[in-house]
Amino acid sequence: MFRKFLKVADACPACGEELHHHRADDFPAYLDIIVVGHVLVPIVLAVETEIAPPMWLSMSMWPLIALVMTLGLLQPIKGAVVAIQWYGGMHGFEEAKKARTASNGSFSVTAP
Ligand SMILES: [Zn+2]
Repeated sequence: MFRKFLKVADACPACGEELHHHRADDFPAYLDIIVVGHVLVPIVLAVETEIAPPMWLSMSMWPLIALVMTLGLLQPIKGAVVAIQWYGGMHGFEEAKKARTASNGSFSVTAP
């Protein structure tokens, strides 16, 4: 669903579902900071108190790990935020939700 790292494609390449009207804005980055912070900070505290690696190692290792985790999680989190908007029929996804729930009143996805 992405045409670039964080650019959502205008439509799904598989089923044609329109995605251009999503409004993820900066919520994925906000969630990314929360997730990486809550996972990494306890690990940093545990390692620094129990093992106490040399300063040069701490100063190079933790920023690198934080960068890799942040960049690695940003796209999946953004995908999840767009998916939640799609599932909930938020913003421009209203018509798509009505269309897929109109037939039997429950959740279903059909290929074109
Ligand atoms: Zn699709």
